[in-house]
Amino acid sequence: MECKICGNRNLKTIYSGKVRNGGLGQYTDMDIPVYQCTDCGVIWHENVLDNTDEYYESTEYRDSLEGSSKEEQFYCLHDKETLEKFKYTGTEIFRNKIVADVGCGCGAFLDFIYGVANSVIAVEPSKVYRQVMDRKGFHTYPYLNTAISEYGNQVDVVTSFDVIEHVEDPQGFLEDIYKLLSIGGKAIIGTPTDAPVMRQLLGQVYEKKLLFSAQHLWIFSDKNLKIIADRCGFKKVETKYFQRYGLENMLGWVKNKEPNSEVNSIIITETMNNVWKSQCCENKISDYVVLYLEK
Ligand SMILES: [Zn+2]
Repeated sequence: MECKICGNRNLKTIYSGKVRNGGLGQYTDMDIPVYQCTDCGVIWHENVLDNTDEYYESTEYRDSLEGSSKEEQFYCLHDKETLEKFKYTGTEIFRNKIVADVGCGCGAFLDFIYGVANSVIAVEPSKVYRQVMDRKGFHTYPYLNTAISEYGNQVDVVTSFDVIEHVEDPQGFLEDIYKLLSIGGKAIIGTPTDAPVMRQLLGQVYEKKLLFSAQHLWIFSDKNLKIIADRCGFKKVETKYFQRYGLENMLGWVKNKEPNSEVNSIIITETMNNVWKSQCCENKISDYVVLYLEK
């Protein structure tokens, strides 16, 4: 077997056991071997979902992950992420532009973009969510290839958050984003890292309960994302690390060995959290990485 990203034959099996399947506390029936390339560092496992397209097109994925696929429930869970996404993108690149968000769910982020953009393209496999976004006036498509047939070489800005780790062919995914973009168009693509601090502190507890999941086929870092993006022919390829979770989350995990067990302590001030987050980012051991591309 060789690395699907860089072709290196020197791979390690870093985990073999049940992994999260959807929401917290739900696991696969089978043990899943998880591999890491010793050269580019990419982590992956084989796809164990039965019919992947149907899974994401139906309500099964959201029902399993979030307990609901209702529109209102989506906003309750995801509206708070919009501010974080604007930290990755800034606000100045969207005005009067054609903007596409790939894997946009119910379009919580695009709702904000819609106010300034010339037009908004929503790429989302879920049928229920596409019906909602049709109502909003977005141009909706289930997959990138269907969006390319109408908007190829025309899109100014493509965003995609927490999606590339789900796709079987990340190289093809970035190639399709390249095809969608106009010359000079920009793509901003974010994905969770392997959260090295948490793995060091918690090992398999963290890996089983949160990190490794049936739906996340890949865990990327700056090195392997750049390899894929360079092969697509982008003019500019840059990466930047971000830390989403704060000290209260890390200490909660350490104390209780469980997710969602945040420690509230007087010592965890905003200043402390800012120092912690910036140290994680500077040392590339934070929990999120964003790829910045220009065609
Ligand atoms: Zn590799």
